[in-house]
Amino acid sequence: MAETWTVLGVLKWTAGHLRAKGVENGRLDAEWMLADLLGLDRVGLYLHFDRPLQADELAAYRERVRRRARREPLQYIVGHCEFWSLRFRVEPGVLIPRADTEVLVEEALARMADTGTLLDVGTGSGCIALSLLHERQNWHGLGLDCSEEALRIARANAAALGLAGRIDLARGELTMLPEGPFDLIASNPPYIPAADLADLMPEVRDHEPRLALDGGPDGLQAYRHLAGQVDRLTSGGWLLVEVGIGQAQAVRDLLAEAGLTDLFVRDDYAGIPRVVGGRRP
Ligand code: GLN
Repeated sequence: MAETWTVLGVLKWTAGHLRAKGVENGRLDAEWMLADLLGLDRVGLYLHFDRPLQADELAAYRERVRRRARREPLQYIVGHCEFWSLRFRVEPGVLIPRADTEVLVEEALARMADTGTLLDVGTGSGCIALSLLHERQNWHGLGLDCSEEALRIARANAAALGLAGRIDLARGELTMLPEGPFDLIASNPPYIPAADLADLMPEVRDHEPRLALDGGPDGLQAYRHLAGQVDRLTSGGWLLVEVGIGQAQAVRDLLAEAGLTDLFVRDDYAGIPRVVGGRRP
């Protein structure tokens, strides 16, 4: 007879295994992967610690653990993540939405009138544009991405959130934005200096799309391109961008040189300057 594995048994085993592979929160990840597989939440999992796993459940779970042990991000393995309290599908073709980016959403909402048109440059999963449209019923959006793969995932997210009718998702480059004009342009562009890519955690470095991360020699390339196209804003329209650690001042200067006014910098919840914005006079 094969050995019986219970929920608690596999969680304990996985925690130790993932720790040995250098995964920081192995136990927590084990809980997420198993709860998702069994269709439970984490509390539900705790109520079923003694439940034996069926052979097919065990096989599917083992495959998840194997992927996580290779340092694939948890979110790609379960196929979704939460952003702005909404569920977004994610696959290896898109950047995993980060909690820091919710600060950009907050700052954008504070500046969005009742109706308007927004542009999300490098929309990826669509998390920024779709969160904003979810909150502002009379807005319409355009999400641009250079990756067809990302557009496919963003479209699936738009449909799942019931927002497909209010967003266009199109192939485009941040070097050549559509004419607009837009009342809001938001972007979380690639901003990691190319030389720093090698030092990122394996989850990011080896699994998230390079295109979503690589900000060129000094990490500021995308901001220069965006700053050069502020004529795509309506008069009074806002440009808001997420920035990397230590980039806020340089990006603020770029937006000032581009002629934007009412410049601001907003910290994330870890106290790191994270969002820079300004408006077209
Ligand atoms: N807009 C998406 C996000 O914020 C993708 C950004 C990117 O790929 N750089 O998660």
